[in-house]
Amino acid sequence: MNDRTQHEHILVVEDEAEIAGYLRRGLAFEGYNVEVAGDGPSALQAARERPPHLIILDVMLPGMDGLEVCRRLRAGSDVPIIMLTARDAVPDRVVGLESGADDYLIKPFAFEELLARIRALLRRRAAVNEPTILRCGPLTLNAASREVFLGNRQIELTAKEYDLMELFLRHQGQVLTRDVIYDRVWGYDFGGESNIIEVYVRYLRQKLEAGGHPRMLHTVRGAGYILKPPSDPQEA
Ligand code: CA
Repeated sequence: MNDRTQHEHILVVEDEAEIAGYLRRGLAFEGYNVEVAGDGPSALQAARERPPHLIILDVMLPGMDGLEVCRRLRAGSDVPIIMLTARDAVPDRVVGLESGADDYLIKPFAFEELLARIRALLRRRAAVNEPTILRCGPLTLNAASREVFLGNRQIELTAKEYDLMELFLRHQGQVLTRDVIYDRVWGYDFGGESNIIEVYVRYLRQKLEAGGHPRMLHTVRGAGYILKPPSDPQEA
């Protein structure tokens, strides 16, 4: 439902058609591209031909079980894997994680819980691949040290201001909606009535525009906010 999930491809490995269909519909509704494989060999083939961003893997599969599928996947890939298991026994959980899974869920599970695990794994993966130094016009952000500079001058930001600044820099030139900002910076929904984003945008502007620097953080009426370098021709 937002820019993060649009192109992310999830492979669901589940032989029970009802559960597979439920996962396919739910994940597609959330904006993921979903492929379903009904057994181990077709899962391995699908993962090879169209490498997914994440795999949801049921342990109980006909023929080759999920643990074996997981081991074989791990031989050539570090794709995040969430195991589904109907068995609540502790040894099974341990075996699941030892086989190389990143996480597991016990059936039956709440769909929201699965979504939360998926997002956490995809976010963690994305963070590993994201650049450390981000630039936009005179603005430089070092994601390793969490420092922000305007020209040569360091800007002091609070933790939330920094998170918001990093989000804008990672998506510069792109309108960020309030929903996306809430989700990424605050991690939950304020219910739409809060003006916390407006307040934080104002703080950032005050710091970015101190000393007469031109505006970079713009309001897009009815849509959200966008960060652009001051030299952007559309603003000239
Ligand atoms: Ca199954």
